[in-house]
Amino acid sequence: MPQILQLEAHIADLIAAGEVVERPASVVKELVENAIDAGATKVTVEIQNGGMSLIRVTDDGCGIAAEDAETAFLRHATSKIKNQYDLEAIGTLGFRGEALAAIAAVARVELLTRPPEAALGTSLSVTGGVVQGREEAGCPAGTTMVVRDLFFNTPARLKFMKKDAAEGASVFAAVQRLALSHPEVGITFLRDGKREMQTPGSGILRDAVYSVLGRDLALGLIEVDAEFDGDMHVSGFVSVPTCCRGTRGYQHFFVNGRYVKNPTMTAAVEEAYSNQKMVGKFPACVIHLGVRPNSVDVNVHPAKTEVKFGADRDVFRAVYGAVKQALEGDNTRPTVVLTDVKPPVQDSVTPNQMPVSIYRRTEPVPQELPLYDVTARTEVPAPPPVPVRHEAAPTHVEEEKPVPPQEEIRETARQAESPPTPPEPEELPPWRLVGEVLHTYIIVEQGETILLIDKHAAHERMHFDRMQAQDYTPMMQGLLSPIVLTLPAEAGAALLQNGALLERFGFELEEFGGGSVLVRGAPADLDLADVEDTLAGIAAAILETGTARPDAPRDVLLHTMACKAAIKAGQKNAPEELRRVAEAVLSGRVRYCPHGRPVAIALTKGQLERQFKRT
Ligand code: ADP
Ligand code: MG
Repeated sequence: MPQILQLEAHIADLIAAGEVVERPASVVKELVENAIDAGATKVTVEIQNGGMSLIRVTDDGCGIAAEDAETAFLRHATSKIKNQYDLEAIGTLGFRGEALAAIAAVARVELLTRPPEAALGTSLSVTGGVVQGREEAGCPAGTTMVVRDLFFNTPARLKFMKKDAAEGASVFAAVQRLALSHPEVGITFLRDGKREMQTPGSGILRDAVYSVLGRDLALGLIEVDAEFDGDMHVSGFVSVPTCCRGTRGYQHFFVNGRYVKNPTMTAAVEEAYSNQKMVGKFPACVIHLGVRPNSVDVNVHPAKTEVKFGADRDVFRAVYGAVKQALEGDNTRPTVVLTDVKPPVQDSVTPNQMPVSIYRRTEPVPQELPLYDVTARTEVPAPPPVPVRHEAAPTHVEEEKPVPPQEEIRETARQAESPPTPPEPEELPPWRLVGEVLHTYIIVEQGETILLIDKHAAHERMHFDRMQAQDYTPMMQGLLSPIVLTLPAEAGAALLQNGALLERFGFELEEFGGGSVLVRGAPADLDLADVEDTLAGIAAAILETGTARPDAPRDVLLHTMACKAAIKAGQKNAPEELRRVAEAVLSGRVRYCPHGRPVAIALTKGQLERQFKRT
């Protein structure tokens, strides 16, 4: 047996550094988080060569006292928590006291800092974990951290770095997430001397979203804001169904001001779009979830980008409900985009006041912690101290609640959802059916807006909603000559495994050998010619979603039936029929077809006037 030796401190530091400091982006994240924890209102991030040769983060926060400057670089040195109780309700972004030690172990670091109340500041340099020099210095209040030559002493790590451009891009992405997570902090990003981003620090999330994601994307967003049982607050923005993207890259989730990746929150947002967005498209979103600090464990991941909720199910319900409500309340319509004319600024999106405050606390955990407050401008007052009872000290070893599988969460969410209240029959503002063009588009005039309605898409949605509301269960019709379906093996198997489910929808299926499926019965109102396509679609839906969405096969069936039952483009329709479709669209009940295409687009008088140069 080889002898067991305890590693020397500097080797242990290098190993620990590997966890926290993976690449320039992780250094920047840690440094900016420190600045935010220090109460900064302005933070400037500068990088050169993708952050490999230089990272400089300057803040106007509380600074570090001269006597603490060296301590800050020691492992497990932190001002943010003091005992195990603090760990159960973390209100700051940092808490492990590892980052500065880890960064200084693998780079040349200079610190320049002055607390506002001190006359003189401190300048300190640390290289490879060893203090090189320290002196008093005149400097502005706040802190500047300069990190040079990252990984100069760990060649193995250096080898794994990508090209500067790629490292720089991931630094930028990290800065963007920080800016979205803290709209109350004005963050500026400079890459190789060029300013690439600046948020105003107004505390208004929409301002930060504008600066970070750009005006175009921000215009396609609707506001989300809902409380859940007084325990959770969901706020932020989601894209309208027609502005969904080809990737999940535009989804940003935050819990108590911390960027996280969380499958429950992702599933909840996407589920809220079911039957409204196109298949293979993903909503863009910036979702802030505020919870009580003791209902989330942020100490489960080295980079703290994963969190563990005490009640996943409630998180799903809160996020799902908030997004669904926002989508239902949105009555903006896509407008015709004319060249030369900028789309009008949507004024339906009201500014979202959401400065995020830092919740600092050093007392033991009280029973009821305040909800992380994303709307208050000021700091949440510290809760009253609760006497520490050692014999009954709260512990971390309480039994682990298993995370409920997604499908279960979704199922509960559905059950919890109150049945949709039918919209109040409102008096519609006067409108006029102008006519129809191309046997496809209904034209309506209402006030100063002209609406073009896709009659098929709108009618399809009307049928779909009606079938869903009636909990449609079709009659089965036995087929005189059964249809033989030849599908890819796994598609056939997916159908046969769900035989009972499909029976409820009016299909009778049998295995036919060699991967084929025999269809003995089909829903009475499904055209025989559509049986094959419908079943192939159902199989694909089952394979794609697994069992995650028990409603998926049913939705596919309803989509198909609704599509078949709807009036078609190219068909001649009586004006009365067109009028009914137009009325449903104008009432706001019908907005997207079940596949996420818009049913109507608007053209305004102002747009036409600009185009004709009348204004
Ligand atoms: P943590 O953030 O987990 O406490 P760090 O290693 O990141 O650990 O920082 C150590 C300590 O240094 C912090 O707790 C804080 O007191 C101090 N510190 C670091 N950066 C700053 C800053 N920009 N402004 C003020 N204090 C800072
Ligand atoms: Mg830190």
